[in-house]
Amino acid sequence: MAGQVGGFDTHEVFNQPAPLADYDLFSADAALSEGVVREGAGWAIDRLRALGSRCSDPAIIELGRLANANPPALRTFDRFGHRRDEVEFHPAWHALLELLFDHGVHSSPWAEPRPGAHVARAARFMMMAQVECGTLCPVTMTYGSVPALRRDAAIAATWLPPIHSRRYDRRFLPVGEKTGAMIGMGLTEKQGGSDVRANTTRAEPIGAGGREYRLVGHKWFLSAPMCDAFLVTAQAPDGMTCFFMPRFTPDGASNAIRLQRLKDKLGNRSNASSEVEFAGAWALRLGEEGRGLPTILEMGTYTRLDCALGTTGIMRQAVSQAVHHTAHRSAFQKRLIDQPLMRSVLADLALEVEAAIALCLRMARAFDTETDQGEIALRRLLTPAAKYWICKRGPTLAAEAMETLGGGGYVEESILPRIYREMPVNSIWEGSGNVMCLDVLRSLARAPESGETLMAELIPARGGNVHLDAAIAALETALTGPATRDEATARRLTERLVLTLQGALLVRHAPASVADAFCATRLGEHRAGAFGALPPGLDLATIIARADPRAET
Ligand SMILES: Cc1cc2nc3c(=O)[nH]c(=O)nc-3n(C[C@H](O)[C@H](O)[C@H](O)COP(=O)(O)OP(=O)(O)OC[C@H]3O[C@@H](n4cnc5c(N)ncnc54)[C@H](O)[C@@H]3O)c2cc1C
Repeated sequence: MAGQVGGFDTHEVFNQPAPLADYDLFSADAALSEGVVREGAGWAIDRLRALGSRCSDPAIIELGRLANANPPALRTFDRFGHRRDEVEFHPAWHALLELLFDHGVHSSPWAEPRPGAHVARAARFMMMAQVECGTLCPVTMTYGSVPALRRDAAIAATWLPPIHSRRYDRRFLPVGEKTGAMIGMGLTEKQGGSDVRANTTRAEPIGAGGREYRLVGHKWFLSAPMCDAFLVTAQAPDGMTCFFMPRFTPDGASNAIRLQRLKDKLGNRSNASSEVEFAGAWALRLGEEGRGLPTILEMGTYTRLDCALGTTGIMRQAVSQAVHHTAHRSAFQKRLIDQPLMRSVLADLALEVEAAIALCLRMARAFDTETDQGEIALRRLLTPAAKYWICKRGPTLAAEAMETLGGGGYVEESILPRIYREMPVNSIWEGSGNVMCLDVLRSLARAPESGETLMAELIPARGGNVHLDAAIAALETALTGPATRDEATARRLTERLVLTLQGALLVRHAPASVADAFCATRLGEHRAGAFGALPPGLDLATIIARADPRAET
């Protein structure tokens, strides 16, 4: 197409790629589609392909842009001065939630349990993250709340049917009048987020010996406040307790959850994150008084899994954009993708994503059992470890992927700025980096079998790569030594644990060129600071070809 000024053709637009759209995100992703079958969800492939195609439909991609370009607005009062405490979202937000509900991302493993259900959901979550991340916040909280809600028969009877439903319902109504429901969570207060025990919100029982309470206090972060109910923490007479707090009281009145303001956030802008006050809000106790932390942390295991999945999904989208752009852009008489140094960058980015996908799907399989104690211990250990490392890699990867697009990657018409802004949040919420690494130490101390299950996962890969063999030996020593009790070196141990497992998964399941390159650059002596500083002699062509979003496997 020609540029025109005053009837004159100023220049021809060429050497610019077409937008990346209209491909099947699932089938085009070898690491994802192979991993889904390997980890037990081969039965879900048809639906995953269908969602994979939907996720690159230009109309769906546009919903992601619109939802973020038109952030939500708080409506505190109506025009007569009555409290409303509602948030208004752009229609694109609701359309994306309809799609997420339709594919069961919020609840399918609970509503339709079967082997591999969490793996299939993990694949859906990673694909939807490539479209838009704000909507994933209420979806992950809803998913994570179910095990805790199931422990209370009365709450479960009323709330699980609309949570299991595939019909998203945007209306602000009591749950009995809705086709679908979403659940949020409120822990963080101004004086402390990581340290939930520092909560000052008070809970007073209504009457003696019952389960109903009134809560007075505040939450400094309460995301997706239009959820239908929240799991919140507060100090009851016998200590820190978990409560179930709906937006409406049983008599149908609006509960005393006062939305004070919405946060002005770096990213995740489609989603509302509010500051709230509880002015005697009605809530039901969930679990025993004084046992609030274990209850809420059970939810945290699932939401932390999703932090790793979400970052992996957006890393995958960033790499797809990088490979697509460089395949259709030339500089210095060569396609960028054929320039030797660009190939090093692309291959290195691709290795990061391939390893993250393999780890996420393996981790999701550990959620597919309620009886295998080894797997349960493994998921307890891997979730904070994977959340820490994958979410730490996200921002660096996004910046490098953006750079492969040159200046065009930095402007808002590209999806890369949104991806870049989105990256840090998964590292901060649901427990920030240090807190995750301390949790790894806690898991090893409380469930020593988790270290043994991890080693059992590594041992079949022995003999496949010399760097990996050395890393496994070093990790085995570390897991039985003082490093498991040393807070100051917890990041080092966690990083080593994740990289060794990623190396083992790739040695066992990925092409040799991928596994060898990963082990050489992440476990060997060639560890580098920036992406793309690869040693010579790697099979870059195979690594890049596997990451090509246009390559159907
Ligand atoms: C966009 C967004 C949405 C959010 N939505 C919600 C929500 O819906 N519900 C909710 O409850 N919360 C929510 N949060 C809050 C989030 O979970 C907290 O911000 C987070 O857990 C950290 O708590 P904090 O902000 O109080 O930081 P702090 O607890 O003060 O931590 C500050 C830093 O100190 C580190 N640190 C803490 N303890 C230690 C230690 N012992 N050793 C070493 N380092 C340590 C942390 O890793 C962190 O880096 C949201 C946050 C964001 C950014």
